This record gives sequence, C-alpha cells and structure tokens, in this order.
Amino acid sequence: MIPDWASERRRMVDRQLRKRGIRDPRVLDAMLTIPREEFVPHEHRVCSYQDEPLQIGYGQTISQPYMDALMAELLELTGTETVLDVGGGSGYHAALLGALAARVISIEIIPGLARQAEENLRRTGLGGNITVVCGDGSQGWPEAAPYAGISVAAAAPDVPEPLLAQLGDPGRLVIPIGDRWDQELRVIVKSDGAIHERIATFCRFVPLRGTGGWR
Ligand code: SAH
Repeated sequence: MIPDWASERRRMVDRQLRKRGIRDPRVLDAMLTIPREEFVPHEHRVCSYQDEPLQIGYGQTISQPYMDALMAELLELTGTETVLDVGGGSGYHAALLGALAARVISIEIIPGLARQAEENLRRTGLGGNITVVCGDGSQGWPEAAPYAGISVAAAAPDVPEPLLAQLGDPGRLVIPIGDRWDQELRVIVKSDGAIHERIATFCRFVPLRGTGGWR
C-alpha cells in the first residue's frame, strides 16, 4: 500500500514542528508541500516523516524534519536572498531553502551525494533556483558570495573563517559547533559591521569534513 504522503506531511508539521514552536508560516508551508519521501532512499521511504534523521548512503543522513525547519526558520528568509547550503546530502534542505529564498548554492563534498541531490531536485522539479556543486563547503563558495544566509548541515570544531567572510551584511549563519556527540547549534548574525552570536539549541549532526572541518 502506498502511504498517503500528504497526510503524513500534515501530521509531521502539526506534531513535530508547530508543537515545538516553529512559527514562520513560509517555513511551515514549504514543509507541507515538499515531498520529503522523494529525497529518502527507497528502503527507508516509509520512514520519511518520522521524527529522526535517516541514512542516505555514504554514512550520511538527511536531518530530522524539525532540525531542517528550525535551521530554515533561524535564517529569517523573505524570498529575495542568495543562500549557501553547506552539506547538500539528499538535496532536501536545499529544496526547502529554495522555496524560501531567491537562489541557493548547495555544496556537497561526496560526489555520489552531489549527483543524488541534483537528481532528486530535478525529478521533483524543485531545482529551478538551486545550483548543486561538489566541493569542500568549509571553504564556502566564493563565486556567489556574499550570502544573506548560510546553513551548515555538519558539525565543525569552530566557525570556518571563509564562511564568516562570505556572509553578507546583513546576514545570518546557522551552524552546529562541537565534536561527534556534543554540539550546539549557533546562530551568527552580521549586522552593521558587527557580529552577534547565540546558541539556538543542542544537537547532533554528522562531522564536517574538509579544511575547516574535522578532515
Ligand atoms: N542537508 C542534507 C543533510 C546532509 S548530512 C539533507 O537535506 O539531506 C551532511 C552532509 O554534509 C553530508 O552529505 C556530508 O557529506 C556533507 N559534508 C560534510 N563535510 C562537508 C564539506 N566540508 N563540504 C560539503 N559537504 C560536506
């Protein structure tokens, strides 16, 4: 039997997002319409709307829906921005950001996953304003900088300097910082030349690789 994905999505948005305090109507709307099951490998598809991360191959995961929504909400996008998505993975978070901003660059370090993200975005027709690139996102993607928003889906030891440099003013960077098991999700806001930082929550992401990551 094919699950009723639309009602699974509604239930996920009500129980996992609204009840936990996600309020941005654009984020809630996007999470209600993007077919997450299309970004999840076949063998895990029935679990697409469960309250947890799922394996997407290469030892990587698509984040828990709540974490996707929270990170997107923290960027406070209005639809005019160019956004950098570090850790493209399945392409789901890029699709979410694509629904909320004008343009998205999604950078993924594992070639097989970059191809998968591209294919998922093409098949769902959601990739129109999204460019998937393969490379070390801990160095950002200077070609399209500055970014009004940067979202990082893998945990770094510290905030990589190139990401701060490529963040626009005003701009918002959301990034998990910490080791394999113990991380804080930081929100870094650049405004009028000043940088403010706060911790949004505690979390557990896969490690960021590359020069600015855990290598
Ligand atoms: N946003 C993804 C979640 C992917 S998990 C989704 O919606 O599915 C984090 C991803 O970050 C993994 O795919 C991993 O390969 C990637 N990654 C880790 N270090 C990276 C780096 N330095 N540059 C780009 N991608 C990186």
